[in-house]
Amino acid sequence: MDEKKTVLIVEDEKSIVDIVRFNLEKEGYAVLTAYDGEAGLAAARAGRPDLILLDVMLPKMIGFDVCRILREEGDNVPVIILTAREEEADKVLGLEIGADDYITKPFSMRELMARVKANIRRTAMGQAHEESAAAPRAGGLTIHAENYQVCKHGKPVDLTQREYDLLTFLAAHPGKVYSRIDLMEQVWNYDYVGDDVRTVDVTVRRLREKIEDDPANPALILTRRGVGYYFGGE
Ligand code: CA
Repeated sequence: MDEKKTVLIVEDEKSIVDIVRFNLEKEGYAVLTAYDGEAGLAAARAGRPDLILLDVMLPKMIGFDVCRILREEGDNVPVIILTAREEEADKVLGLEIGADDYITKPFSMRELMARVKANIRRTAMGQAHEESAAAPRAGGLTIHAENYQVCKHGKPVDLTQREYDLLTFLAAHPGKVYSRIDLMEQVWNYDYVGDDVRTVDVTVRRLREKIEDDPANPALILTRRGVGYYFGGE
């Protein structure tokens, strides 16, 4: 471990907090603690932990709400839900609360430590992947996801939010063809309504004018005739 990773424990049973903290510190983690939902949310915002262990039944605010609010704020910290019952575990998977994993009580420390390690490692790998995605692609295109900047041959390109969203969505799945209806749903976030699908064509045309060497002969945003669009600049 290069630098000490921080784990936030949000749990109202002090005996659980104590033993989990003891084991995490033994494994080399820094530990933050909170004993109710509101304090947990505040600690997550202020402490920027690398992972959160989050109980469900908490005073003041339940764990599901803590997780949902953090996700709404754009915080992608890995969250492992600590649940007392299997039916709560079902909710973790079924509800759109954005948790990464769950573990049911009572749990073994060995299992908990393995889950913590796996979830932190997965995040670290995801970040490494994002950084490598900033390497220039064919056509001299570079996408800097961390500051929403797209460069063409090293020069910044001025894209609208929608053009940026469309480009990054297609570029995240090179070679995969998306119909215009798929793109309306995935990039525009609403269901296909009548002629609005032409909006996709217009946005593709504008995007090509900005990022292609020759917009009439695109090399990055390609058309699969009769099917849809795909990213070819790998
Ligand atoms: Ca509890």
